[in-house]
Amino acid sequence: MHHLESEIDRSQISMIALEEMVSENSYARLVDLFVEALPMEELGFSHTKHEKEGRPPYHPKVLLKLYMYGYRHGLRSSGKLHQACMVNVELWWLLKGLKPSQRTICYFRKNNAKAFRAAFRHFVLLLKDWNLIDGETVAIDSFKIRAQNSLKNNFNQGKIDRHIDYIDGKIEEYHVALDLADNEDTRTEVEQKIAYQHQKRAGYKFIEKELQETGATQISTTDTDARAVVLHRNIVNVGYNVQAGCDSKHKLFINAQTGNVNDTHALADMAIEAKELLGLEHMNTLTDKGYTTAEEMARCALNNITTYSSPKESAANKTNLFDLKCFKYDQQEDSYTCPAEQTLRSNGNQYKKGNTKVKHYKTKACKGCSLRTQCTNSINGRVIERGIHQKFIEENQKRVDENPDYYRLRQQVTEHQFGTLKRQWGFTYTLMKGKENVLSEVNLIMMCYNLRRVMSILDKNDLKRRLKDLILDFLERMERNKAFLSWFYISKRPLQFINL
Ligand code: SF4
Repeated sequence: MHHLESEIDRSQISMIALEEMVSENSYARLVDLFVEALPMEELGFSHTKHEKEGRPPYHPKVLLKLYMYGYRHGLRSSGKLHQACMVNVELWWLLKGLKPSQRTICYFRKNNAKAFRAAFRHFVLLLKDWNLIDGETVAIDSFKIRAQNSLKNNFNQGKIDRHIDYIDGKIEEYHVALDLADNEDTRTEVEQKIAYQHQKRAGYKFIEKELQETGATQISTTDTDARAVVLHRNIVNVGYNVQAGCDSKHKLFINAQTGNVNDTHALADMAIEAKELLGLEHMNTLTDKGYTTAEEMARCALNNITTYSSPKESAANKTNLFDLKCFKYDQQEDSYTCPAEQTLRSNGNQYKKGNTKVKHYKTKACKGCSLRTQCTNSINGRVIERGIHQKFIEENQKRVDENPDYYRLRQQVTEHQFGTLKRQWGFTYTLMKGKENVLSEVNLIMMCYNLRRVMSILDKNDLKRRLKDLILDFLERMERNKAFLSWFYISKRPLQFINL
């Protein structure tokens, strides 16, 4: 059987243009046009101006192109990106043969966190101008990524107590051994072990003090912003919970946040940020039950945002007692009617519960009620707690019940993107430390995702034409600015002399 043989002679010099080696439909070509069309200086990228002294830096466009190409292909560390610059033909073409050092690549990402965020927002607004984002319905969901902090270097009070108990036990053991030691060498060895345990104990006490002083529930020592999060099926690791807002029209990312450990208090911030970014009067949001919090929904309603969030199961449902749905609320009377047709009233007092306030509703009729065993286990009878923002939960539930097909859109709008980022592009961990830097990495990968997605939505030639038009606009703007500046300096200089 014959095999395919190459006709290339390795020692023969070949005349090859880089242009011929990159496919017309390559993602690298779009990255090239996209980055050329970005107003880098306005976005806040460093080294956009040519320095007069010292070694000339790389233009930020070169490094941004490298990152946008790399993140799309699962190359994220500065080492891998530097290596790719050496061997990847598309990167030779994209960077025109430049090969930035590992250090330069690394510092560019670290020093331009805010600029990455600004670039992502700029791209989202561009997509809105192109009518690819309408902001009518935004689905908000989250995914977890691991941080640059091991579980060993994350502490809460319980963990510190366990460590200190263990060390105290060890110290006691060593003291017994010290009493029994019959020669000087053994005594010295045991004393060293005791000193080491005391040193470890002092370290844990120091962390405990920090925990008490800051009022935090946990501390991560390598990346102080990282928190213990449940990654998957009760597996806890130290990481970030990334919130992402996606537009339902073409499933493009709109915004992201990295602040919240869970979804309970994330809805309003995310929704308001997306609405303000897109400059909308009104917006609908789709979220799962993790986001169903009365306070968040009240904030959304105040900001003209209509929520469609999966209702949470009430605690009574899990105990086979009458669910809250069995109790009818009368808004005018501010009372509940129970399954035994009795009226439960509040004494008007509001009680603090977590971040919110609640009112208690009860009736004396519970004492002799025949349905009591199906209603409550409490000896004082059934008490219904109603949050002061409960009406927003009820309105949300009504909307979801009346529009089940609309609510079902949620999964289609968000979950596919997360799978692509995590499974295909390897974004299961962050390489950065600190909330802001991690957010910049999230924004960067979302920008790459949106660009890749736009390649599928629009015809490639149409997309290239749009980007080329943007570059021409940008260049024209630059020319106009230059003309204005030269006029400004010419006309102002004599005035300056006169003023002096
Ligand atoms: S136990 Fe109380 S609240 Fe429950 S059904 Fe009977 S009277 Fe109503």
